[in-house]
Amino acid sequence: MTESASTSSSTHNHTDSDASSGKASNDIHSESSLDASFFASAESLSVESIEPLKRTFASGRTKAYDWRIAQLTALKKLLTENTKEITKALHSDLGKSDSEAWLTEIGYSIHDVDDNIKKLKSWMKPKKVSTPMVAWPSKSFVIAEPLGVALIIGAWNYPFQLVVTPLIAAIAAGNCAVIKPSELSEATSELLSKLIPKYLDNTAFRVQEGGKDETTELLAMPFDKYFYTGGEQVGRIVMTAAAKHLAPVTLELGGKSPCVVDGETNLEVAIRRIVWGKWMNAGQTCVAPDYLLIEEKYLADFSQALIAEIKKQYSEKPKANKDYGRIINQRHCARLISYLDGVNVIHGGKHDVADCYIEPTVVIQPATDASIMQEEIFGPLLPILTFKSKQSMTSFIKSRPKPLAAYLFTSDKAFETSFIEDISAGSICVNDTNIFLANHELPFGGVGTSGMGSYHGKAGFDTFSHQKAVMKRGFRFDFAVRYAPFSKLKLMMLKRL
Ligand code: NAD
Repeated sequence: MTESASTSSSTHNHTDSDASSGKASNDIHSESSLDASFFASAESLSVESIEPLKRTFASGRTKAYDWRIAQLTALKKLLTENTKEITKALHSDLGKSDSEAWLTEIGYSIHDVDDNIKKLKSWMKPKKVSTPMVAWPSKSFVIAEPLGVALIIGAWNYPFQLVVTPLIAAIAAGNCAVIKPSELSEATSELLSKLIPKYLDNTAFRVQEGGKDETTELLAMPFDKYFYTGGEQVGRIVMTAAAKHLAPVTLELGGKSPCVVDGETNLEVAIRRIVWGKWMNAGQTCVAPDYLLIEEKYLADFSQALIAEIKKQYSEKPKANKDYGRIINQRHCARLISYLDGVNVIHGGKHDVADCYIEPTVVIQPATDASIMQEEIFGPLLPILTFKSKQSMTSFIKSRPKPLAAYLFTSDKAFETSFIEDISAGSICVNDTNIFLANHELPFGGVGTSGMGSYHGKAGFDTFSHQKAVMKRGFRFDFAVRYAPFSKLKLMMLKRL
């Protein structure tokens, strides 16, 4: 099922050698992690030493509240003064519409930087804690101190926001940082490398462009924090590198996020929200519903309504619709198309690899061992699985690796409570999809194979900080019971203390 490129509304046409030779890969990350030849043609960039950044951090300058605020304010200026260029780069990389670029990347980052500026003073305040009687009189408190020089490695699907929002957290916490945007989203990577040095303190922040080779060189360097967004396989490489330096690591990974629909809920709203969460960025969202679970008896009505809503949001001709994006490159396009082999496609399936286009596609009842149910889809294909009961849906999710997000649409309070309690996932959202990311009061991160550590809002500030414990004592009282020589009486008193 192919479609001509001539109707394309997009300027996006990334090619790569494997895709043009028609070779599909079932591994979502294969080009980044395995295929060295993919990068061989790319011009190799020299990777600068991080010593100058280490010296800046050692000077103590970055710890000052005023310096942090000045950098955050400069970053906000970068965002507001370059909205057009950023939108253009995102369109070139992913065919992103202006609205999506604003909602999920630029506006999202502006909201984050504003929130950090507003709350930074209170986050930086030492937190008083109580002290046990044995150490009276004294004061105990916790200071959030910056870790040093951080390495932030981004992924291609939200290529701007996924490096800028960790950077905001790193700055707020008083760190220096090297940012390594994804090489697959070339236009955004290039723009970041142009803009960051123009706005931020060049002695504290650097952008390093490049792919596997450059990242490997960076990973050999002694950073004080490694923050990685991307696939599981490279996540293991990053964690191994961090272990060599005994440095803390945050892994923002992915996985298959399930979405359970209770057929007796408000289906009209549920379907609208599912279509929004699934097909934004052409399905290339780490928390997008990866597959749907529904009770058998509701399948026919539900799928009909789902298809009608897809047409309503993206029209009968999504290829020509400016709101519908493109796949990052031809290889990923070929990977996704290969998932359609031998499955029951009830809507969509048309594609045009040359234009990196795949129609919003719905598949029903795939085998659970089919690629589409084994690999993270990370594209515009939505499989629907049916079950006999609510309990069997929950059991199915629990039998699989812990997802980054899990969604439930229901009006049944008891089902909602048991789902929240039973399912281990990075995040759970009831009666909606990706919208939970808009709440920066909620920490965002995975669990198990979907990641470790979290960020957004205060969680981001904490992720780039060390919680330094401080106890301050005077010389006035000194309980003798703690000192040798000990006696039965001293032991008795110690137990009471
Ligand atoms: P990618 O190919 O852009 O790789 C991510 C980063 O790793 C890039 O900067 C790349 O240069 C670097 N890299 C690639 N291969 C490397 C290697 N061998 N050694 C060192 N560094 C290497 O992105 P991807 O991996 O295709 O990303 C998709 C995955 O990311 C999906 O699983 C998705 O769910 C996940 N993701 C998670 C989040 C989140 O916030 N949790 C956000 C976006 C994407």
